[in-house]
Amino acid sequence: MGTDLTLIKANPPLKDARYLGIYIRSRAGQSHVIKRAQQEITSITNALRHKKVTASQIAYVNNVVLMARLEYRLKTTLVSENQCQTLHNRMITLLKTKMRIIRFANNNIFMHQNMVGLVPLSQHLRTAQYSEFIIRINSRDWDGISTRIMLRNAQLRIGLQVCILVDHTELILKINLQNNFNFNLLKSFKDQMFSFRPTDLTTWNLTTQHQHTIISILHTSVDVGHTNFRKLEQSRIKAIESFIKRPAELLDINFLDHITHNNGVDMLFWTQIKKIFGKNPKGPIPNFFKYLEEIAIDQNSNGQRTLIERYQATIIPTNKTISLTPSPPSRDRRRKEWIVIRDGDEYQFGKILKKNLTRFSYQHWIRQDNNNLITQCAGCSTNSTHIEDNPVCIKKEKYHKSTIIDVKRPTNNYQNTSTFEILTPVDLIKTRIITKPSLYENESPFVSLDIPSYYLDIIKRTISSTLLITELSDIL
Ligand SMILES: [Zn+2]
Repeated sequence: MGTDLTLIKANPPLKDARYLGIYIRSRAGQSHVIKRAQQEITSITNALRHKKVTASQIAYVNNVVLMARLEYRLKTTLVSENQCQTLHNRMITLLKTKMRIIRFANNNIFMHQNMVGLVPLSQHLRTAQYSEFIIRINSRDWDGISTRIMLRNAQLRIGLQVCILVDHTELILKINLQNNFNFNLLKSFKDQMFSFRPTDLTTWNLTTQHQHTIISILHTSVDVGHTNFRKLEQSRIKAIESFIKRPAELLDINFLDHITHNNGVDMLFWTQIKKIFGKNPKGPIPNFFKYLEEIAIDQNSNGQRTLIERYQATIIPTNKTISLTPSPPSRDRRRKEWIVIRDGDEYQFGKILKKNLTRFSYQHWIRQDNNNLITQCAGCSTNSTHIEDNPVCIKKEKYHKSTIIDVKRPTNNYQNTSTFEILTPVDLIKTRIITKPSLYENESPFVSLDIPSYYLDIIKRTISSTLLITELSDIL
């Protein structure tokens, strides 16, 4: 770094560094803070050990000096009752020695106002941290913003539909989130039966079409009458853990809306979900998803993966919460992709046969009713160029009007080459895009632009020309 190229080395993950009186390290966790607090206590007890001091002097040092220092050190660390006792014990032991009282004497004696009046660490920390939390959560500064971000993050991770500050007490007390100080503080509040009344709830509430959220299903005990009761109950506990600990890249998956399609009635496959959220579809299926598949899918739906009625969406979605961005076939003539063309509510399926610069020809395939199986079309009414002697149905289409899809042979062992199963949830393919086919093959072939509906408001608010507004809105 700099002109003399000084080499700067990063601290190892467990070594802490001081910045403006705060100790931070790269590894998440709080053990280094507890260690610093311990050093703070040791330095004070060591200083007092060989001096002649009275009990009230020790109480003064404890209540005025030590408590203030520890409060500062433990500002962003939630220390459990037990940890507080362990930390504070050194000070109490010193007091006992100075008062010539046996070590086994009950600590509570020294906390009494009319005797020594030693302030216990846990009580001091709770009072300080609780009151600061109340101030912080209402603050418009960075401390307030970051507090609210951490709480919203916890709300998303748990998958709560309404504001995390209100209700959910029973649920939150059962959930362990590490390294989220504000959440743990809130949990401690709820444990003490405090309740909050936020003034503006709407911004915290998340929209879902399902009455049951993923967490609420996971949190409901399995029916005792179930044949697999014990085994299911065990996998349910594992499922909650796997859901809460899901990686940050899967944080967007928090409601049934995100794992279902066909108007919130059928459950998607895990690989489909990962593809929709733009993640690598490889990797194991998380436990929570396996559990949901077992408990929420109607076993009589014949591979349709239809949800049990009470878990189906209660509202017909107006705006889909998840969608697939269409990807047109490549211009590479050697690749013969499977494609779907959407025309309103109608879908045309097919496999590409030949490509040229602007169009391609494809073999028409027809979807059977009520499932995802497609069979080759031997000539149909939608095709005027059909020749009687040749039982094939070949059509032509432009690149930007079609989307590539994944298909596979059905698993039902029969070696039938004329049936394929569609893997891509075609009902989730977005329809509103502007595409610009390029003139030259090597030029970036597509510029696609998605405009969410809330931009409509922005357009209306910022543009005065009515003609331009209609034109822009038409694009949407
Ligand atoms: Zn046809």
